[in-house]
Amino acid sequence: MSNNRTPRRGVLLIVASPSGAGKTSLCRRLMADHKALELSVSMTTRGIRPGEVDGRDYHFVTHEEFQRLIDADAFLEWADVHGNRYGSPAAPVERALAEGRDVLFDIDWQGARDVAAKCPGDAARVFILPPSLEELRRRLVTRSQDAEDVIERRVANAKGEIEHCDDFDYVLVNEDFDRSYAELAHIYHAERSRRHRNLWVDAYKQALLKEVV
Ligand code: GDP
Ligand code: ADP
Ligand code: 5GP
Repeated sequence: MSNNRTPRRGVLLIVASPSGAGKTSLCRRLMADHKALELSVSMTTRGIRPGEVDGRDYHFVTHEEFQRLIDADAFLEWADVHGNRYGSPAAPVERALAEGRDVLFDIDWQGARDVAAKCPGDAARVFILPPSLEELRRRLVTRSQDAEDVIERRVANAKGEIEHCDDFDYVLVNEDFDRSYAELAHIYHAERSRRHRNLWVDAYKQALLKEVV
């Protein structure tokens, strides 16, 4: 059966994990393989890392601009994470939902909770666990994009974040990257096929039932 039938209700696919578990790498690969999937580009007050592009990885803004956006009710959700503010702009998500398109979120557990509460039928939450905290630290060090104190702060926050995996629909351990990616892609495909998202099915079913054989 084709996956391109309309009307449909899009998936809000939310991926969360402690920093360094691999969610950004997994999300990038999912985006590369699924051109119709749109990334929710977050606003953040954190500084830009080497290799990051403003508008692609994040919209990098000042604390004043972030506060102005909160006051203007421009966020679907926002949270304080590791000492910076991060938020998902509401307008692109509202547009995507109205048009039946899917949106991918690379956000923390607080954002996952808030999006799922605001859009209960649309959200699907995936939590990525690291193989161990030792490996998590190794990945943050190898990524070599954060200062030592930032890495220590993120490792220290990891246990508190892992506590929240109970609230998620799916959990996977990112040990072997290709295997984890395959699992994530399967979750996405299964979510797309869920009955309640495929609003075209009723008419399709009626047409089948009217067929004379
Ligand atoms: P990473 O964890 O190493 O990918 O570090 P980032 O600096 O990219 O993200 C910092 C934290 O903020 C992570 O826990 C993200 O999941 C979270 N985050 C990123 N974007 C958003 C967002 O739009 N909303 C919320 N609530 N959290 C976000
Ligand atoms: P997050 O977005 O969760 O902070 P990243 O995607 O930035 O994590 O991954 C952290 C680091 O670990 C990166 O250098 C990435 O290349 C590496 N990494 C991701 N997944 C794996 C894996 N399965 N095995 C080994 N290294 C990984
Ligand atoms: P980083 O600083 O490493 O890019 O991101 C740190 C954490 O912030 C990650 O867990 C990331 O997913 C999360 N994050 C990024 N953008 C958002 C956002 O818009 N909202 C929330 N709640 N978390 C975010």
